[in-house]
Parts: sequence; structure tokens; C-alpha cells
Amino acid sequence: MRIGTGSDIHRLTEGRDLVIGGVTIPYCKGEEAHSDGDVLIHAIVDAILGAAALGDIGSIFPDSEEWTKGMDSSIMLQKAIEMAGSEIVNIDATVHLESPKLRPYILLIRERLSQIVGIPIERISVKAKSAEGLGAIGEGLAIAADAAVLIE
Ligand code: MG
Repeated sequence: MRIGTGSDIHRLTEGRDLVIGGVTIPYCKGEEAHSDGDVLIHAIVDAILGAAALGDIGSIFPDSEEWTKGMDSSIMLQKAIEMAGSEIVNIDATVHLESPKLRPYILLIRERLSQIVGIPIERISVKAKSAEGLGAIGEGLAIAADAAVLIE
């Protein structure tokens, strides 16, 4: 068994989709990014790559390349699992954002991650936290995520 952690942050901007864990959440802003900007999946990908000591998401999917432009992050997640050559035991993740409230979407996000990763939903935990109005996240300028992953 090996453990890994990952984190990510993106600016929130108008005219972009808010994609979290493979689910597009209705909102007036979304992640500014070269890819689809899925902050939660990016944190999970880094946790998997970290557990396997395979570098980080930026080294595998450079944001300077044309082929990663607008990329669906679920493809990055599947590729990271393939590279790690391991089974994912469980995922525990936290999304940090001020709004919208994620509670109504948590189950949907866990279901989608379960499909992408190919493990039961009971092994995938997603939590959401507000920043209590503090800093860039609290002001609604950014969204961040942390993840811990155990691989076997
Ligand atoms: Mg990212």
C-alpha cells in the first residue's frame, strides 16, 4: 500500500464551465485553465501520481501543449491510474469554494468519480468547505481542492 496527496487551485472566471469531479455545476463562473480546469480531478491525479512517485500532473499533461488544450480531466485521471499500475483503494478529497454550495452535487460527483476510477462509491469521499470569506477563495476569486489517495 502507498499513499499520496495532491492539491490544486484555479482562478474562477466568467465564460467558463465549473467542472468539479467530472460534473458540470450550474454557476456564473468556472475554472480558468488550459484544460477543462477540473480542480478536484487535478488534485486526485496528483495524489495518485504522488503515491506512485511518478511526478506531477504538469509533467505528464503540460499546459503548454496543444493536445492538452480543453482536455477532459477524466482522461487524465484514467491515464494516471494506468501509469500507477495499481488498484485505487480509496480517495478522500476536499473542495474549497465559497459558492455555489456543493452539498446538492456531492453524491453526483462521487458517482461520476466512481465511474471514472472504477471503484465503488463507498470508497470515494468528497467534502466541501467554504473559506469563511477569507482570502482569494473566500472572495470567490478561486477554487481549490485537496486529495489523499491510497493505492495497492
Ligand atoms: Mg489544475
